[in-house]
Amino acid sequence: MKTGQSKRSSRSLVSMMLGALVFLLASLGSRGDARAEPALQKRIIYIQPLGEPLPKADVALVKRSLEIFTGLPVKMLARVKLPKMAWYPPRRRWRAEKLLRFLDKRMPADGFRILGLTAADISTTNGTYKDWGVLGLANLAGTACVISSLRCHRRSRGKRHARIRLAKVAVHEIGHTLGLDHCPTRGCLLEDARGKVKTTDREYDMCSRCRAKLKKRGYNLPAKPKIPWPKP
Ligand SMILES: [Zn+2]
Ligand SMILES: [Zn+2]
Repeated sequence: MKTGQSKRSSRSLVSMMLGALVFLLASLGSRGDARAEPALQKRIIYIQPLGEPLPKADVALVKRSLEIFTGLPVKMLARVKLPKMAWYPPRRRWRAEKLLRFLDKRMPADGFRILGLTAADISTTNGTYKDWGVLGLANLAGTACVISSLRCHRRSRGKRHARIRLAKVAVHEIGHTLGLDHCPTRGCLLEDARGKVKTTDREYDMCSRCRAKLKKRGYNLPAKPKIPWPKP
């Protein structure tokens, strides 16, 4: 769903919303694609834990899932506090698009992508909704994405179920940063969640179309990834 133009950014923002998946399509600059891409083995994805720590098993599954699906090296950064600049007092939560700006600046010199990982509630503007809670937000073909575990627990069957949902959201958002838009294939990890975390429960793998797109962009995806969750 398109929600309007961002005046500040020359990149596109894509978000996986609780209520809806939102596109904030900006005047498309080529900033994201113009820079020279490093060799595949040097494309390090960094995970930046933000705020209160998540369970170790959650962090471990997010890391493993990113490695499995992208075939890229994934490294952890030391946990930092959520930045005050992203705090939204009226709803007592954190603005995801501001977290993306914060994460962009925290990217190590050898980094390729950075994923912010938090248990805190995050939100962004979605159409007429000024402050809308989200599962995650990403810069399309950009550097940063951020995900929150909070909504993964909603009506989950337990900790493991919520953890798997979180890892699927991580792959979805990293997929956006690698240039993938939402996918019409039912059950694809890049499927538009249309506002429901439950959508992740029918997801399993990236579909052949999404895989082909990434291959075309030069990514060497594992042909048969060892998918770390059961088939729905
Ligand atoms: Zn999305
Ligand atoms: Zn797909």
